[in-house]
Amino acid sequence: MAPRWNDPNTKLGVRARIALWLHEEVGEGNVFVKADLREAFPESEQVDRRMRELREHGWVLDTNKQDEGLRLNQLRFVKAGVPIWEPGAMKRNSSAQINNKQRSAVMSADDFMCTACGIAAGEEYAEFPGAEPAQLAVSSRAMEHADGSTSTEFITECKRCKAGTPAEDAPKLLHVLDGIEDVGPAEREELAQWIRRDHRLVRRVEQLWTQYRRLPADSRAEVADRLRKQP
Ligand SMILES: [Zn+2]
Repeated sequence: MAPRWNDPNTKLGVRARIALWLHEEVGEGNVFVKADLREAFPESEQVDRRMRELREHGWVLDTNKQDEGLRLNQLRFVKAGVPIWEPGAMKRNSSAQINNKQRSAVMSADDFMCTACGIAAGEEYAEFPGAEPAQLAVSSRAMEHADGSTSTEFITECKRCKAGTPAEDAPKLLHVLDGIEDVGPAEREELAQWIRRDHRLVRRVEQLWTQYRRLPADSRAEVADRLRKQP
């Protein structure tokens, strides 16, 4: 059974207690106002921020931006996410508390390379001579899925890329899924092939371009000429 949000003996943090408050006092589907929240947690100065952080754990809280039926100060508790008050729940869902075994599994799935720049641990950055060799880290991402659910997933990045990539700039699954819908069947098949081989094949036309660029000027002109004659 879940602990009470207002248990005076609780050792839970404010964020977990806000989750419990939503669960016990508001209930899924219902509307509340920020003033209710502040009244429930008068000791916390950052109660709004703590509540927003629940979204990283799959909690769906709509404002009037998502739900036109709401007034400016109202929120709707749409759906509960990870029960972060449970011991161990955060371990499964927080990068700060990911254990060594989970970290190794994430890095192994990413071939022990930074997914942003491709560097491996201990390698030198070619573009930053004299900089410290690369160190790999695991970052968490709140991912939205096609069915509307959100989950926390993990990704390998080098510390340099991790520092340079704000979470909101990270690629979004839904953008990729939408993008697939926009490209033609030939390009979809090409992408599927790259994914199967985990390698982007250089297209014949790109190989020809590279070779063309390395021809002397007169020979390049001959190629251009041939293309004009054979449309
Ligand atoms: Zn990197």
